[in-house]
Amino acid sequence: MDRFVVKRKSPSAPPPDMNWEEEIQFDPGKRKNIEKYRANQKDVVRRKYLQNGPCQPRTCDFPPRLIGDRNRRFNPAWFDEYGSWLEYSESKDKAYCFCCFLFRSRDKKEAGYDAFVVEGWNSWSKKFRLTDHVGGIDSVHNQAMKDCDALLKHDLCIL
Ligand SMILES: [Zn+2]
Repeated sequence: MDRFVVKRKSPSAPPPDMNWEEEIQFDPGKRKNIEKYRANQKDVVRRKYLQNGPCQPRTCDFPPRLIGDRNRRFNPAWFDEYGSWLEYSESKDKAYCFCCFLFRSRDKKEAGYDAFVVEGWNSWSKKFRLTDHVGGIDSVHNQAMKDCDALLKHDLCIL
């Protein structure tokens, strides 16, 4: 699957009432939920996040957590498999979904809205949950992914 790579000559400016330094947090554990923005701000914020791309640190310390009788931790190799959307928060030691964060509305709670958008996911021993999260072709996750693509394509057309 394509990664979200947007090539732009210059970064877009924030609206006058917004400070990108405060609004746009690279660490997904520190972000303000998209639903908290006014309707006319949401796409501006989404574009800025899409320019930055998903937060995928590979060299930070992934702390171990005892699950059952084994120490488990986040595996940065998962970024290779789920690179278009998987994010890791160093501050929370949890994983998140980039496109569901950007486009999933709160009323679509199924397939891990709480786990991958609100609370973060850290069931490191259950990697299959990542595949479950993606779901079928019409899943809410894949719809959010299409919405990301559509916003990017729309922007590329008007450049
Ligand atoms: Zn998702």
